[in-house]
Amino acid sequence: TVRVRIAPSPTGNLHIGTARTAVFNWLFARHHGGQFILRIEDTDQTRSRPEYTQNILDGLTWLGLNWDEGLVFQSKRFDLYHHTIQTLLDNGLAYYCYTTEDELKALRDAQKARKEAPRYDNRHRNLTPEQRSAFEAEGRQPVIRFKIDDNREIVWNDLVRGKLTWKGSDLGGDMVIARAASQGEIGQPLYNLAVVVDDMDMKITHVIRGEDHIANTAKQILLYEALGATVPEFAHTPLILNSQGQKLSKRDGVTSISEFQNMGFVPEAMANYMTLLGWSPPDSTQEIFTLDEAAQQFSFDRVNKAGAKFDWDKLDWLNSQYLHKKSPSELVELLIPYWQEAGYEIDPENNRPWLERLAAVIGPSLTRLPDAVEMTRLFFTDSVELTPDAIEQLKKEGATDVLNAVLEALDNTPEFSPETAGQIIKQVTKQQKVKKGLVMRSLRAGLTGDVHGPDLMESWVLLHQKGQDKSRLQQALS
Ligand code: GLU
Repeated sequence: TVRVRIAPSPTGNLHIGTARTAVFNWLFARHHGGQFILRIEDTDQTRSRPEYTQNILDGLTWLGLNWDEGLVFQSKRFDLYHHTIQTLLDNGLAYYCYTTEDELKALRDAQKARKEAPRYDNRHRNLTPEQRSAFEAEGRQPVIRFKIDDNREIVWNDLVRGKLTWKGSDLGGDMVIARAASQGEIGQPLYNLAVVVDDMDMKITHVIRGEDHIANTAKQILLYEALGATVPEFAHTPLILNSQGQKLSKRDGVTSISEFQNMGFVPEAMANYMTLLGWSPPDSTQEIFTLDEAAQQFSFDRVNKAGAKFDWDKLDWLNSQYLHKKSPSELVELLIPYWQEAGYEIDPENNRPWLERLAAVIGPSLTRLPDAVEMTRLFFTDSVELTPDAIEQLKKEGATDVLNAVLEALDNTPEFSPETAGQIIKQVTKQQKVKKGLVMRSLRAGLTGDVHGPDLMESWVLLHQKGQDKSRLQQALS
């Protein structure tokens, strides 16, 4: 069965790139009825933080990317890595390297002067026991390097990119798999080693990750072989690019999922959008789907090789589509935090029907949730200041008479509803012998203080239910 994983490092909040990789892993696992596993790569104990782990878990949960089995923490698995490193040492596939930082720098400088790519020259690959003892007597702390055969050709059939070929000589020389440690000890295992040990141990069948890991894959394949393991399948997903076509980075502003959440994107839209970052369904005109729907159709045949440009307009559009589908009560739940933050007195306990009516009125115009703050401001203040356009409107011939007539009609209307509102407008239009447009526009100006905005009848009802329609009209007339 298919087993995939994502392996975020908790050195920052859940990044959109990691989240998108998670989406593709999840879709692939669900498509095949396999498992999607979450592993926290926290071997770098100086940069890893529990709050970042929490942010990653929260972000994945928010997006609906449920994972199978328990969490795996690399920091709890050092014994396993050490054991594997020891095996490689015992089999002569890895060795202690005593080259100092200064020596490595001199080597790089010389290579640079010769316009060569930097690489370790494997100088300590075949030290004699005497040479080792001499270095140790000097107090040098060795790293452990894994031997890489320069003449090897590493070939794999990438599920996204097709056949990929690397030369051993392009991998920078024998690679460090454990950091320096005192004599006889094994230092902190490094990424490539730990990943291979874990992916083997967790029986991962498909490694799906960003294309920035392609060179690592070449190295990891050599490790799988050295450890006598089956090499998994690999799929390298395209990078997410900014509008200039460069890899999306912190400099582009918003990059973490919690930031998108705070900006008022809903998780369905976010997940839908990320699915489209590099993948398209067989019917490429279909743009709106749930993760489950996408999972049914997901395959790597339809993942692009080229980078995926991040498109804010598209994300906004998707978000508005999902918001328009929400019921009034769902919208109220989503909007409460924003209203509260704006300091509006919403009283959701006693006021829910009114809030739902309000949410229904503005729902069709929402793109991001915080838009609601401005759109609904007029319903949460006791009076509104008229815009210059509204003042202009109220100066039009007949406008004052219209509002006076409306006030009078209101006094004679005990049961107010959108229907009676419509009747009042009709009645006043006839009685004042004016155009209906004048009535509507003057009413809007008087009630909302502006010449455009949400549905007039519904706005009127909302203000009426707050006992504010008359006072506003009176205020507009004064
Ligand atoms: N910790 C690595 C990262 O976040 C994992 C890469 C991998 O999937 O192997 O980039």
